[in-house]
Amino acid sequence: MATKSLASCIFCKIIKGEIPSLKLIETNLSYSFLDIGPIAKGHALIIPKYHAEKMHEVPDEYLADILPIGKKIATALGCEEYNILQNNGPLAHQVVKHAHFHVIPKPNAEQGLI
Ligand code: 5GP
Ligand code: ZN
Repeated sequence: MATKSLASCIFCKIIKGEIPSLKLIETNLSYSFLDIGPIAKGHALIIPKYHAEKMHEVPDEYLADILPIGKKIATALGCEEYNILQNNGPLAHQVVKHAHFHVIPKPNAEQGLI
């Protein structure tokens, strides 16, 4: 599977190891890591190894790889309640212009995550 990369993109640099990250799960098609500015403990990002700004520009085989990783992360966190979020474009609050999925745990009072 050919990957598509943009030299100036911070998430492409993370995939290539040019910017450090706290890696969770990596496959041939996707890379997941902890968000640098978590809004909850365990806040993770999953990105395709294909540079596209928006989700609808990402080939299906890359998208198909991502939700199973979201399942694994949610299961590993042991958190029954969580959000999977995906922003496209500035009006939708997208800041980093490489399509990505957030996994945001919503722990209850008894849960300690990570
Ligand atoms: P967006 O608003 O674009 O959907 O979210 C981008 C996310 O990427 C933010 O939650 C932000 O904290 C995260 N982020 C931006 N730069 C970096 C980085 O260099 N490393 C990591 N791990 N996360 C980043
Ligand atoms: Zn990129």
